Amino acid sequence: MTLAPNSPEARDIAYHFHSYTDAMAHAEQGPQIIEHGEGVFVFDNHGKRYVEAMAGLWSVGVGFGEDRLVAAAAEQMKKLPYYHNFAHRAHPAAIDLAEKLVTMAPVPMSKVFYTNSGSEANDTVIKMLWYRSNALGKPEKKKIISRNRGYHGVTIASASLTGLPNNHRSFDLPLPGILHTTCPHYWKEGRDGESEEDFATRCAEDLDAMIQAEGPDTIAAFIGEPVMGAGGVVVPPATYWEKIQAVLAKYDILLIADEVINGFGRTGNMFGCETYGIKPDAIVMSKQITSSYVPFSAILLNDRFYEPIAEESGRIGVLGHGYTGAGHPVGAAVALENIKIIEERDLVTKSAENGAYFREKLSQFARHPMVGEVRGVGLIAAVELVHPELGDTLPAGKLGAAMNKLLFERGVISRAMMDAMAFCPPMIIEREEIDLIVDAFADALTELE
Ligand code: PLP
Repeated sequence: MTLAPNSPEARDIAYHFHSYTDAMAHAEQGPQIIEHGEGVFVFDNHGKRYVEAMAGLWSVGVGFGEDRLVAAAAEQMKKLPYYHNFAHRAHPAAIDLAEKLVTMAPVPMSKVFYTNSGSEANDTVIKMLWYRSNALGKPEKKKIISRNRGYHGVTIASASLTGLPNNHRSFDLPLPGILHTTCPHYWKEGRDGESEEDFATRCAEDLDAMIQAEGPDTIAAFIGEPVMGAGGVVVPPATYWEKIQAVLAKYDILLIADEVINGFGRTGNMFGCETYGIKPDAIVMSKQITSSYVPFSAILLNDRFYEPIAEESGRIGVLGHGYTGAGHPVGAAVALENIKIIEERDLVTKSAENGAYFREKLSQFARHPMVGEVRGVGLIAAVELVHPELGDTLPAGKLGAAMNKLLFERGVISRAMMDAMAFCPPMIIEREEIDLIVDAFADALTELE
């Protein structure tokens, strides 16, 4: 490919080191440059329009170009562009948002701790868990159980929670003391003749066996996304969460719900915990909390989690943890306005109803020879691609990458999680826009054959 030396593409190759990218391939193929967005659409630097069927990175819930969020950010920037929450200081937006989050939590919660990203929030959760166990005089209670295919971020500790090989390979991860149990991926992990419920029982038994083998007194917490996102949109089998929670309750192990993707309407309820009857001790939030207009994240903690930490900070004289940008006034103001929009426009119901429409439309592909499974809940879905003849002999991810390219050519931005094509569009999406995605997928599937 020849590029004009001063083109944005050439300058990107020259100067920009990309996240989650094969740097060598990037130097050959260059970037896809997105310049602006409107509603569910984004436009590249050649003016071509795409349906953003992933809402960016599962995150732009209210869509692109929402003037109310721009106004909220501008107003807050003029009033107080920055302040922090160290050493007893606060600002009104952080207080208002903390109250709002505690009030809207799906289960009783007592406090909000602010961070800047999903990774930092999960990293903070790990530190809080360790601090809590020390506070309780149980210094051996430090291990954390996560799941294969779970995604919790990329800092050293949160990448260790993440259960995906590419986040560990060549990084010398995971850290010791972070364990991974069975992924509740029925389509991939279920055995011949095993019902969904039996599979859920097996997942819970595997967890129980891991806890027994490690020693129940050494396990601080279990962390999971109600519905896994980056691991391939893994919708848990019926009874899964009920059975997992019963195991945790037996051993005094805290439950952390990572709602970074699920939260604020994605699963057809405000929180994924409501969709699956999960009663966590902490909820991790980011992405759709501000529709990603501003980086922001927050952790909701209940009394059981918070109180020993608060007491320990009293003994030591300080909680030695906090980020300069955490609870940023602009982020907090945008989050408040974003939540207001979600509530006023009832985007949660819209996500449930249009999600059902989307999944119904996608289900027409379920019997296609190149489709292994169509799954989803609310407005998050995946189509698992398979090769009818080559099957597992085809390198994992090859079909997904090919489909991604075909969809992009047809004006749809999706994301391939190996061979699972994920769809997670803005929650404002209308049915005719959903049809654009489905029609492009049908056309691309025909070409993939
Ligand atoms: N947790 C979940 C469930 C996520 O999906 C993500 C990101 O995709 C993270 C945590 C990490 O968030 P961030 O990329 O903001 O660090």
